[in-house]
Amino acid sequence: MTGTRNYQDLGLVNSREMLKKAFEGKYAVPAYNFNNMEQLQAITIGCVETKSPVILQCSGSARKYANATMLPFMAMGAVKMARALGSSIPISLHLDHGGSFELAKSCIGSGFSSIMIDGSHHPFEENVKVTRQVVEYAHARNVTVEGELGVLAGIEDEVTSAVSHYTKPEEVEAFVNGTGVDSLAISIGTSHGAYKFKLKPGEEPPPLRFDILEEVEKRVPGLPIVLHGASTIIPEYVEAINQFGGKLDDAVGISDEQLRKAANSAVCKINIDSDGRLAMTAAIRKIFAENPEEFDPRKYLGPARDALVEMIRQKNEEVLASAGKA
Ligand SMILES: [Zn+2]
Repeated sequence: MTGTRNYQDLGLVNSREMLKKAFEGKYAVPAYNFNNMEQLQAITIGCVETKSPVILQCSGSARKYANATMLPFMAMGAVKMARALGSSIPISLHLDHGGSFELAKSCIGSGFSSIMIDGSHHPFEENVKVTRQVVEYAHARNVTVEGELGVLAGIEDEVTSAVSHYTKPEEVEAFVNGTGVDSLAISIGTSHGAYKFKLKPGEEPPPLRFDILEEVEKRVPGLPIVLHGASTIIPEYVEAINQFGGKLDDAVGISDEQLRKAANSAVCKINIDSDGRLAMTAAIRKIFAENPEEFDPRKYLGPARDALVEMIRQKNEEVLASAGKA
C-alpha cells in the first residue's frame, strides 16, 4: 500500500509556499519533531492558537517508532484536528535527515509532502548525486526537498558527529545548481542534542557564525536556509529535570537572541526537537516525584502535552516570529 498515496489526500501541503512567505516576511517556520500522539496534539494546538504555519517532522527512526503505516494518518489527524478547531494553517509532513533515496521514496509514497536528504557526510560529489536523485523523484510528485552542506556536531536520533564542519560558502552555488534543492540546511555553529557546547563555569556559548550565513545568502539569493540543532535547551526544564531525579549536567543550547536574529534573515525553517523533549520530561518527572502513587498515563502525559503547548507558543511568538503568519 505504500508508493501510491498523495500528501494532498491527507490535507498536507509541501513547504514551498510557507518557506517563500517566511523568506519575504523575515520570520522562520517552526519544524517540530514528533513521535507520538501527545506531541502531535501539542504541536497542532500550539500552532493553531498562535496562527503559525508548521512543519511536522520525523526522522527515519521516529517513523519506525510511530509505525510507518500509522504515521501519515497521524499527520492527517493533525490536519483534521486543526480544521475542527476552525484553523486553516498550512501543515507539512517532513522527513528529517533522510539517509537514502530508498527511504525518501518510501516516505513520499506514504504521504510525506517534504523530504530532507542528508548527504552531508558524503564527499561533495556524492552528496550532489544522491540529493539530485531525490530532487528529481520528489519534484515529479510536487514534493519539496531540503539538502545539507556542512556537518553539525552532536547526537540526534541516527545522526551523530563528534565534530562540527562549518558550511563552506564557496560550495553552496554548485550544490544548489547541481541538485535543484528547494532549501538548504547549513552548519553555522548550531548542534544536535542537549549538550551543544562544552563550557567552563561562567563561560557563554560561542555566537553563531552569521558571517557564513551572510556569505551563503549572497551566493544563493532567495534560497530558504534551514537551521538544525536550534533548541535553546531552556534552563527551567533542565533545572526541573535535575531537581526531580534527572541527571542532565551542563546541558546548554542556542540563545533566543541568536535564533531571533537568524529567523530575521534568509533562515526560513528552524528545527526544534530537544526543547520539546525537555519540556515533556520535566513535566513528567515533576508529577512522578510529587505523586508517586500516580499510574494513569493521562495524568502525566496530559500535563506533559500542556507543557509542550506552552513551549511551542513561546517559540512561535517570541523566537521564530511565525505567530500570526497563517
Ligand atoms: Zn538535524
